[in-house]
Amino acid sequence: MAVAADFALGKVDVALTPQERFAEFLQARGKRITKQRQAIVDHVARRHEHFDAEQLLAELRKTREGARASRPTVYRTLSEMVDAGLLKKMVLDGRAVYEHDYGYPQHDHLYCTGCHALIEFSSDDIARILDAVAARHRFRAEGHRLIITGLCFDCRSNRSRSRHQDRV
Ligand SMILES: [Zn+2]
Ligand SMILES: [Zn+2]
Repeated sequence: MAVAADFALGKVDVALTPQERFAEFLQARGKRITKQRQAIVDHVARRHEHFDAEQLLAELRKTREGARASRPTVYRTLSEMVDAGLLKKMVLDGRAVYEHDYGYPQHDHLYCTGCHALIEFSSDDIARILDAVAARHRFRAEGHRLIITGLCFDCRSNRSRSRHQDRV
């Protein structure tokens, strides 16, 4: 099978900003967007890397708006943002990692167990295979998660170098 070698992520257009979408989500549940929640959503919306709750908390506390953010509020707001479809959560080595979902294209990951790097890629071929598998089982797919674990190029070069040094 010939596989397309373009693994770049495409773009997705969205009608609302993440903040607007979150406010709508909260309103529909009779909740208010408090100052703390607002600071968290604003901070998360500005970044695009993968992060965990403790990293977010540490960063927030360095900012003026987020200086008083509490751990329970951060955890609660993150799970609300997942429910609102803004963030996706994945568990890697027992650690919950978040990333943007709203306005961010569907993609898969290579995960390095040495340095915990996450490399994103997207492949139409994989999407086609998953559709075919779902169709075979008369399954209505709503999403998928594919994480390829292993060692990145840097970690492999470091390992072979240290192995080489052991021998000398
Ligand atoms: Zn690595
Ligand atoms: Zn990702």
